[in-house]
Amino acid sequence: MSDETAGASSPPMVRMAGVDKHFGDLHVLRDIDLEVARGEVVVVLGPSGSGKSTLCRAINRLEPIDSGIVEIDGVALPAEGSELAKVRADVGMVFQQFNLFAHMTILDNITLAPVRVRGVSKSEAQERARALLDRVGIGDQSGKYPAQLSGGQQQRVAIARALAMQPKVMLFDEPTSALDPEMVGEVVEVMSDLARDGMTMVVVTHEMGFARRAAHRVVFMDGGEIVEDTTPDSFFSRPATERARDFLGKIL
Ligand code: ADP
Ligand code: MG
Repeated sequence: MSDETAGASSPPMVRMAGVDKHFGDLHVLRDIDLEVARGEVVVVLGPSGSGKSTLCRAINRLEPIDSGIVEIDGVALPAEGSELAKVRADVGMVFQQFNLFAHMTILDNITLAPVRVRGVSKSEAQERARALLDRVGIGDQSGKYPAQLSGGQQQRVAIARALAMQPKVMLFDEPTSALDPEMVGEVVEVMSDLARDGMTMVVVTHEMGFARRAAHRVVFMDGGEIVEDTTPDSFFSRPATERARDFLGKIL
């Protein structure tokens, strides 16, 4: 069987087991068990402060954890050092704030990490960057600077930049929350395309349309715990817990 064939023997793309995290006295992640299969799209929902961002950041150890295991494609994340950088390079992350380098062109924003971290040649990195910009619908903007682009365009650049590292999994933490409403759709569309193409994704979002259409699973967090882990259909039509019903009552 080739590597491409996702069989029963291949490890989950993301595996968290028994993960705990405190900020001082605050217990922000409580015994988190989460597995994301290859090609699976998991949407994480929950009230503000429930631990969604910390969960995302724990997946690539932007946030150190107190105890438990995090594995990417079967490889445990080491606490630090060059091994951590290697595994982390497999995890693309897109934040609410686009975090583009303001003094660099769009093209340079995208080629920087592949050249520096992956050792790709500059010309190859540029060729790939142009293809990625086409893919996110802004192939004509490569020579501009971030400030010359709209928020929606900048977020699409941020997605292209993460994809340029050829990650095994993409994490999105409220990627549309800082956007003007009319720009949300174009970013959701790029994410939906990625999901359709089989990218493994963990997405924190308030876009319930995306959750219903693109997610294979919904994980509902409250108070640092995973309270429900189910299909979008069952989560939205038959939430099992009072806490989820309460949450849905407020947002829908
Ligand atoms: P969410 O993304 O679901 O809104 P977060 O993961 O950002 O939640 O935060 C979970 C809890 O941890 C919140 O109570 C938040 O105030 C707290 N928190 C987050 N980051 C820090 C930090 N760096 N130091 C102290 N407390 C934090
Ligand atoms: Mg958050």
